[in-house]
Amino acid sequence: MSRIAYVNGRYIRHAEAGVSIDDRAFLFSDGIYEVIEVFQGALIDERGHLDRLARSAGALRLTPPLSEAALKFVMRELVARNRVRHGHVYLQITRGAARREHVFPSAKTPTTLVAFAQAHDPDAGEAKARKGIAVISVPDIRWKRPDIKTVSLLPNVLAKQQAREAGAYEAWLVDADGFVTEGASSNAWIVDKQGALITHPADSAILSGITRARILEIAKAKGLALVERAFTVAQAHDAAEAFISGATTLVMPVVKLDGRPIGAGAPGPVALGLRAAFHEFAVKSG
Ligand code: PLP
Repeated sequence: MSRIAYVNGRYIRHAEAGVSIDDRAFLFSDGIYEVIEVFQGALIDERGHLDRLARSAGALRLTPPLSEAALKFVMRELVARNRVRHGHVYLQITRGAARREHVFPSAKTPTTLVAFAQAHDPDAGEAKARKGIAVISVPDIRWKRPDIKTVSLLPNVLAKQQAREAGAYEAWLVDADGFVTEGASSNAWIVDKQGALITHPADSAILSGITRARILEIAKAKGLALVERAFTVAQAHDAAEAFISGATTLVMPVVKLDGRPIGAGAPGPVALGLRAAFHEFAVKSG
């Protein structure tokens, strides 16, 4: 079965799908995106993702080419046509194709909408969570608005590549004051020795993760102590547990930071409990 993508109003074979070389995202990374988890065929936390997409569009003064109802329809269609049971839907909106000039093109230029669905092997994710992942710390060299979900991801790409070459899965980005902001493609969390969950506040220094918000809700319902504050690499080394969160990784335990084990050097009960609770939430919302 060939994969089907959506490009500007058409469902098209993924291998044949494309946009203009004049597209502003190709030339200037002038675009926004969302990644939404698909769990048992359902789009998880769709509301939160669509709200964030609208916020990103507003920040860049982009007008999505489709209504929200139409976007929802396209995403469901992609899940169905690609027979995705577990995986994600990727959605990207750009400022469209226009003669290369930094300033915005005429307001009449249609924005570009590309979307596709991708399947994941859920067992591989579970196996990874049972083992835990390693992370490295790298300087956060991004622009000052990582809270907007733009396709301008070069520092994230370089950080992730550095992590892979160091035998790690994720890179934690560290600001000029020594605080971990977030991961290259995830939010960063620690659990201190008193059992409190600590994560960077959702200010302009991080992307306000939809999974992060859901975990905060779940943790609150479980009665866990929550502290939204930045933590340093040293504090992470001293933590009982650590994990990352994101729509594709969900809650993923971190067992090593810069080559040194965190806590017992194995996935901890808080992270694994939150991962299980997130799955339960996903089952219920399916
Ligand atoms: N932070 C960054 C930089 C990301 O790229 C992502 C996800 O791609 C996240 C955090 C997690 O966000 P979400 O939970 O909405 O997937």
